[in-house]
Amino acid sequence: MKETEGFKEAHERMHPGRITAQGFLGTDARPLPDIVARDEAEFRRLGLAFETVAAELRRLRDEGRRGLGEPISVGGAVVTVGDARGLLPCPWDDGAFHKDSVTVERDGTRVVYSDLSIHMLEKHHFCQGEGSAFRLDPGALKRVVG
Ligand SMILES: [Zn+2]
Repeated sequence: MKETEGFKEAHERMHPGRITAQGFLGTDARPLPDIVARDEAEFRRLGLAFETVAAELRRLRDEGRRGLGEPISVGGAVVTVGDARGLLPCPWDDGAFHKDSVTVERDGTRVVYSDLSIHMLEKHHFCQGEGSAFRLDPGALKRVVG
């Protein structure tokens, strides 16, 4: 895959201390198009669709808000929605998203995400780098929302 200008700028903004203290790449040193291509292949292999997973993550977030910050059970999963204030810009510079952190646990697998995570997954097919605390690993997504 060819590294476009948009990807280059987005990749720069993903480093620690630019948009968030931790950044979005974790310990992942691969070029951004490679990270995206690998996760797209994993989604295909697992039979997941980005739009469907994003919709399910939104549904769990909305259901989880009923817990008012406490963990609640949502159809076999335990969902906790934090109330962090403020907005984060997307590294692709196409919008800003609430920081609310959502934790979903099912059968020992946990994913943690924000509205920005859902947006990047849906629009950019970016699950974040290996080692990122907010990485939406395709295998974990399959177990939690698949
Ligand atoms: Zn974006």
